[in-house]
Amino acid sequence: MNKTDFSILYAEDDQLVSQMLSSVLEDYFKNVYAAKDGQEALEIYEKEQIDIVLTDIRMPNLNGMELIKTIREKNKDIPIIVCSAHNDTQYLLESIQYKIDRYIIKPIDLDILEEVLEKTLDLLNIKKKIEKLQEKVSKQNDFLHMVLNTQATMIALFNKNCELTFANKTLLDFYLSENLEELKKEYQAIEKTFIENDNYFHIGKVKENENWIESLKKATPSERIVSILCHKTMGIKAFKITIAQHEETIVLTFTDISETFLKQLQLKDKTIHDKLTGAFNREYFEDNYEKLISKFVDETYSFGIAILDIDYFKNVNDTYGHDVGDNILVDFVKIIKKYSRMDDYLIRWGGEEFIFILKIKNYTDLEISLEKLRKNIENSNFSKNIKLTCSCGGTIHSLNEDIKDTIKRADEALYNAKSAGRNKVIIKEF
Ligand code: GH3
Ligand code: MG
Ligand code: MG
Repeated sequence: MNKTDFSILYAEDDQLVSQMLSSVLEDYFKNVYAAKDGQEALEIYEKEQIDIVLTDIRMPNLNGMELIKTIREKNKDIPIIVCSAHNDTQYLLESIQYKIDRYIIKPIDLDILEEVLEKTLDLLNIKKKIEKLQEKVSKQNDFLHMVLNTQATMIALFNKNCELTFANKTLLDFYLSENLEELKKEYQAIEKTFIENDNYFHIGKVKENENWIESLKKATPSERIVSILCHKTMGIKAFKITIAQHEETIVLTFTDISETFLKQLQLKDKTIHDKLTGAFNREYFEDNYEKLISKFVDETYSFGIAILDIDYFKNVNDTYGHDVGDNILVDFVKIIKKYSRMDDYLIRWGGEEFIFILKIKNYTDLEISLEKLRKNIENSNFSKNIKLTCSCGGTIHSLNEDIKDTIKRADEALYNAKSAGRNKVIIKEF
């Protein structure tokens, strides 16, 4: 075997043996540090970079067993070879507890020694290679993180269990976190910070047996938009997410598209809502009723529709003026929203007339719901403590029926409610 780059510490009190073995060891090691007892060996161990320890047991000052014990406490991996006389084999058992690597019986058979040394050196060489490789990987990782940290987009790495394993500086800054641990402690998981809004992707949209990244992957690029509260500015930001995967690492990048996207949304919002009351406008209904019907209708549920009209509203304008009339309309919408469910829709159909859409099982339930709404309006106080009532005509859209016919039926029911003295709900079945 060629001389290696390793250093050996050799403790032996018998000078003759020490000299003879040292010359053998010099063939294998760059440095051979010979010590005449355990004490000297320990001093050398403290001072020099030692890769292997070879020691006798019986030595003055500090014996081999003490030496092994002390070195093991400092380094649990360093190979230790013990050589000791025949009649000292009781030490073999004792030294096992210190995890020695080899035990050679004196007088030393050089063939055995060489074999032991070669095997130990092989192991050291492998270990060294692994360490070098790990160092290389770690350097590459550092470089990759450095590159990711200089990106203006937020970048997050996840493992296959969707656990966040890395967040770049831009992302940490966004969450006002110093490091990954702090981020996780504060927010647990970043997907939990995605705002639940129909216009965006959020965990409420994730199917039961899917993880959120799988769902995100299945979404179209235009659906891969999330909105998150920015704690720095306390404003809402919109991000477009792109997904890439390398082996088991999933890379998500978050590009800030707030400016364009939020403007787009605001614009869209304006075009579908009534300016005065904030209810949906007629155009929204006309453009979307088909979508709403298919969203509502299944084996159990139907598309319920009602027309609500404030009773004697003209009197409000005549008595209090047009501005108060406007406020009353705003109040009316607020009250209906307060007493309706999340998936109900309110549309300002014109003037003081509104269309109310609800997911309903049957005509009985429709009447109960509308009656509740009517009562709540009757019992509410409007601006200036004005009391008002409304009349309501309701029906259910029948499969394949022209929507105009459904509305006409609701309108007829409303007319009947007015004729019957107002403040009433009349249902007209298909
Ligand atoms: P009825 O019980 O038969 O429904 O009587 P009404 O007075 O409510 O009905 P009518 O259709 O006679 O009058 C509706 C009034 O609503 C007339 C109109 O000036 C008023 N109106 C419509 N749009 C607005 C609005 O945006 N603001 C205000 N202040 N008034 C409005
Ligand atoms: Mg009216
Ligand atoms: Mg009217």
